[in-house]
Formats: sequence, structure tokens, C-alpha cells
Amino acid sequence: MNKHLLFKALALFFPAFLHAQEPHPCGTAPVIDPWLLEYKQHPEQFATARSFDTLYAGVQVHLVARNNGTGRFTVERLLDAFCRLNLDFQPAAVQFFLKNDWTTPNNTNWYNHSDIPEGIEMMFENNVPDALNAYFVGDPAGNCGYNLPYAGVAIAHQCANPDDHTWTHEVGHALTLPHPFIGWEGKVYNFAVPTPDTLTYDYTYFHSTPDTIVPAPLDTALVERLDGSNCGIAADLFCDTKPDYLSYRWNCDNNGQSQVTLKDQNGATFKADGTLYMSYADDDCSNRFSDEQIATLRANLLTQKTAWLHPGAPYPDISGAPALLSPNGGETVPAVDIPLHWSPAPGATHYLVQVSRFSNYVVKNYDLVVTDTTFTAATLLPNYTYYWRVRPFNYGHTCASFTENASFYAIPSSSVGGLATDDNFRYYPTRLSPGQQLTLEIPADWLNQTAECRFFDATGRLVWQTRLTPGAEKITLSLPSDEWQAGIYRMVWTNSTVSRSATLFCTGGQ
Ligand SMILES: [Zn+2]
Repeated sequence: MNKHLLFKALALFFPAFLHAQEPHPCGTAPVIDPWLLEYKQHPEQFATARSFDTLYAGVQVHLVARNNGTGRFTVERLLDAFCRLNLDFQPAAVQFFLKNDWTTPNNTNWYNHSDIPEGIEMMFENNVPDALNAYFVGDPAGNCGYNLPYAGVAIAHQCANPDDHTWTHEVGHALTLPHPFIGWEGKVYNFAVPTPDTLTYDYTYFHSTPDTIVPAPLDTALVERLDGSNCGIAADLFCDTKPDYLSYRWNCDNNGQSQVTLKDQNGATFKADGTLYMSYADDDCSNRFSDEQIATLRANLLTQKTAWLHPGAPYPDISGAPALLSPNGGETVPAVDIPLHWSPAPGATHYLVQVSRFSNYVVKNYDLVVTDTTFTAATLLPNYTYYWRVRPFNYGHTCASFTENASFYAIPSSSVGGLATDDNFRYYPTRLSPGQQLTLEIPADWLNQTAECRFFDATGRLVWQTRLTPGAEKITLSLPSDEWQAGIYRMVWTNSTVSRSATLFCTGGQ
């Protein structure tokens, strides 16, 4: 989503919305990582860090909620965001995998943290070693996200939509990429003012180690010129990222460039490049890391973050979709302990299961992860149609989509009949309308035994019969009940070992 335009639209129609604060794109203050400086100054030392193999890096996700457990990022959104992260890093041949289950801390002060030190505390208390730690919170100190080089990244829920690149941007920082406009953070570029040669910046909290947090350190960045004459030592130190002085969220033109014109210290005019993930251009504009950025982030992984790396792909692709087996097709089921069954998807280790009264899942009765291919919905409100679907994933692959919807109709469990003996035989509904099917749940030891199933009216007259050999634990009968008068009917089930009878009420078609 284009948050920038959405915000403007909301502000137009809801003036009160103006009081809300659009998050700052990124809280990561300017800093040139000492490793990046070394890498740029002595590239020969990193010759062995070149490889074209896909690198697999572990991520530890933390989904933070308020004290009372509310507000947590949903699994569905996490799967989408993680898919986006991996798509964005595909051209760099870097793929991330979830190192462990995501953690679920409850802490309102972390969920909405008002300043970076609270985020530091959150990360120090929850970080796991040997992984990129990523925190999803409601408000990371007024930003869409930020990166602490020694701790992890924090991402705002509202900036982690399926087409957003904040997570990608912050992981870029975690792998030492600066903003292309480094030095301009917190400053507003003005075309009318001569562009300086240098900019001074404050990088409190954003050192590569936590022991130098105070006092506020200052550093100086050279402003990059358009002619490339200082590109290797100015701004982000990359020569294949153009000069960029825009440290606020901006929208691009159709060519992915800034709509405003910039002017360097020599008076040369240009537009900023919005296609870079590390810029502040709208999410709709950005779609790449530059070649030098890719070489750098890979070298950083291969030399500084080897503990994150897994040799080879830790998880296989997901090579198929599950089939929803039952209940399906609007079939009638009692509203208690409803078993949902689906077929496995090759490669999947987990399934996100959703059950809803609404086919668009706007409100969900169930929304949870299982590792099996079955889930029992304990209770649902009866007399409604429900929809359900599953989404297969594993900890390396989260891009598979949901299945199509399956549906069933839940009836009150009071309308389920059983037999006096403890046979696990159930039938429903016990109040049958004309044309409605009767569902029978067959005890296991009756399966594959030929049985006579007869129906008698209240006077004892045989009105219908069938011979069948049940091969499944659930079967349905289509009774000609529209030809029957309203009243009580008795069903008798007889096979070679048992004879059982049960009653139901038919509303009748006459
Ligand atoms: Zn940033």
C-alpha cells in the first residue's frame, strides 16, 4: 500500500486524522559502519568473501503484544512480510529462514516504545544469538522501523504490508548499508540554499557496539556530487547509487525518480533515485539494491555474520497445494468438535488454518498454526455457513497462498442423535427438512459390513430402505422425505452383528 497517499487521503476526509502522526520512514540514524569503511578502503582483504552461492541466513522473529496480549502481528501478516523480504533479497542471492519459532513477548512499553533506549532494552532482553533479531511492534519510537547494529531491527505493523519494503530496508542497514542520503537525516534539503560540501550528523545509539552510546557522538559526511568525483568517499560510499539528499518520505515519478529537482555543490541538477530500497522513496517506487550494495551486504554476511548462515537450503520448496478433504461443499456438521482434514503439501511443515463465517475472513473464528493436516474446531455458533482454508509453509518458505475456501453448515449439537448403546454412532440433523440429507457417522467396527438401513413411520410402516456397505466413517443418505408426512420416523440399522434403531422428526413435504 502507498502509505503516503493513504495518509493524505485520510487527512483529506477525516481532518482529525491530521492529529495522528505518519511514522517517520526510518529511525536508523546516520552511521558508517567501521566494517563498511574497511571494506571500501581495502577491498583486496575481502577477495575471499566473493561467492555467487545463495546465502541462507537465520532470522529470529519476535511478535510483541501489549501486556494483555492484544495487538500482536498476525501469523498471516508475518508470512506475507517474510515472503516479501525473501523476494526482495532474491536478486542478491540471499534467503532468510526462521531460525526458531517466533517469540511472543507481552509488554506494552515495548509494543509502543516512545524512544530508542526502550527498544534497546526490549532487544537485550529477548535477543537470541546467531540470528538477525527482528521485532514487530505497534510503534517503534515513531518510525516505520530502525536498526540497531549490535541488537536487531524493529518494524511497525503499519509498515509491514505485503508490498512494503521497510523490513528489507532495515535488514539492509543491519548488513551495513547506509542511506544514499547519509548526512541529510533530520535535515530538510532546500534547492534555494547552496548545497554544502559536508554535513555533520549525530549517531547516538547507532554505533556498531553498544558501549559507546553516550555521549552523543558526531561525525561528518561528504555530500556526494553528481559527476561521481567523490562517490567512493562521500555519502554511502557507493558509486552506483546516485546522489540523494531527500531524508523524508517522497513519491517518485513514472521513472522512479524524485519529482523535485536537486542541485549539488557544483550547481549540477539531478533527481534522486527512488528505486533503491535504502532511499526514503515510497514503497511503490523502490525495487532494488544496487550491485555494489549487493556485493557489500554479501561480503558482510560472509565475514561478519557467519554465525547467521546455514550451509545450503535449510528447508525445501513447497511444491504443491493442500486439498481440503472435509468438511466441504456446504455439508452439514454438528457445531461441536468439528474435525477439519486436508491433504499434505509437499515440503510444508506448518499450516495456517482459518475458519470464518465470512468468505473474505474479515472476522475469524479460528486463526492458528498446526503442524498436522487436521484441526478440530472445538465450538462454533450453530445455524451458520462457515468457510475454512489453509496456507502451507515452512520456516524457509512462506510465499504459498491460501487454498480456495471450503464450506460447511454448522447445526446445533442438540440436533444430533445417537444411539443408546456406546457405539459412536451419530446421525444428524434429527429434524429433517424435505430434500435435506441425513448424515450418519459410522463406528469403526461397522465399516465394510453390509447393512440394511430401513425407515419406518410412526405406524410401523416401512417407508424406505437401502442396502449399503459403509466404507467411510461418515456417509450421507438422500431420503425421499419430501414425499413423507410430518412426524416421527424410526431408522433401523442392521448388519451381521448388530441391530440398532434411532428416531428423527421429518417436517414433511405434504
Ligand atoms: Zn533507514
